[in-house]
Amino acid sequence: MVTENLKTVEEKIRQACERSMRERSEVTLIAVSKTKPVSMIREAMDSGIVTFGENKVQELLEKQSVLKEPLDWHMIGHLQRNKVRQVVGRVKRIHSVDSLRLAEQIQKDCEKQGLTADILIEVNIAGEETKFGLKPEETERVIREIATYPNVRVRGLMTIAPFVENPEENRVHFRNLHKLLVDINSKNIDNISMGELSMGMSGDYEVAIEEGATYVRVGTGIFGSRQYI
Ligand SMILES: *Cc1c(COP(=O)(O)O)cnc(C)c1O
Repeated sequence: MVTENLKTVEEKIRQACERSMRERSEVTLIAVSKTKPVSMIREAMDSGIVTFGENKVQELLEKQSVLKEPLDWHMIGHLQRNKVRQVVGRVKRIHSVDSLRLAEQIQKDCEKQGLTADILIEVNIAGEETKFGLKPEETERVIREIATYPNVRVRGLMTIAPFVENPEENRVHFRNLHKLLVDINSKNIDNISMGELSMGMSGDYEVAIEEGATYVRVGTGIFGSRQYI
C-alpha cells in the first residue's frame, strides 16, 4: 500500500511543480509516520524515502533507536519546553516553534550541548482559535529576537492550514504565509535569510506547492488513515 501511495503522491508533486514552473528538487516530501509502525517506514524507505516527520518526542526517539539508517527526521508537532533537550541534535528541523519561550529553551539546550538548531516558526496564518502558532503580526518581532540567539537558525515559516473539504480554500492562507516570508526577508534583519515554507498536508499539498511550499508534510496520503486509541 505504501509503495503504491507514494507513487501517486510523487506524481501529484511532480505535476504541481510543473504547473507552477518549479523544479521538483525545490520541494521536499516529508513522510509523516506518526502512529505508524517501523515496518511501514521501512516500506517507504524501500521506495527511496529518507525524510520522515513525527509529532511526539517519545515516539521519535523510539523509532530512531530502531532505525539506524541515516534518515532526515523532522519534528513537526507541538513541542514542550521540558522535552527540548531530548530532541535537539536529533532532527534536521524543528517545524513547530510557536513561542519565543520555546525558542529561548532551544537556545539554552543547544548551548549546553554545543549544538545548533535549525527551526521554522509556526504561524497560525488563518487565525484559528484552536491552533498553535504565532499571529502573523507578531512573527517579525519574535524572529528579530531569535535572530540574536547564537545557537538557533531560523530557516523559514510553517503553518497548519484549516481542515477544509476543498483545498482551494487554503490557497489564500498558503499565499499569505509566503507573503509573510518575503516581507520579513525584505527587512534585512541580521542573521535572518529564510528560504523554507513548510505547508500542505495530505488534503492540500498540491495547492501548497503551487503557492511556494518547500516542505510538504504528508501522512494519510502515504500511510493511510490513523487510529488513535
Ligand atoms: C499529522 C500531521 C501532518 C500530516 O497530516 P495528514 O493529513 O495525515 O497528511 C502534517 N503536519 C502536522 C503538523 C501533523 O501533525
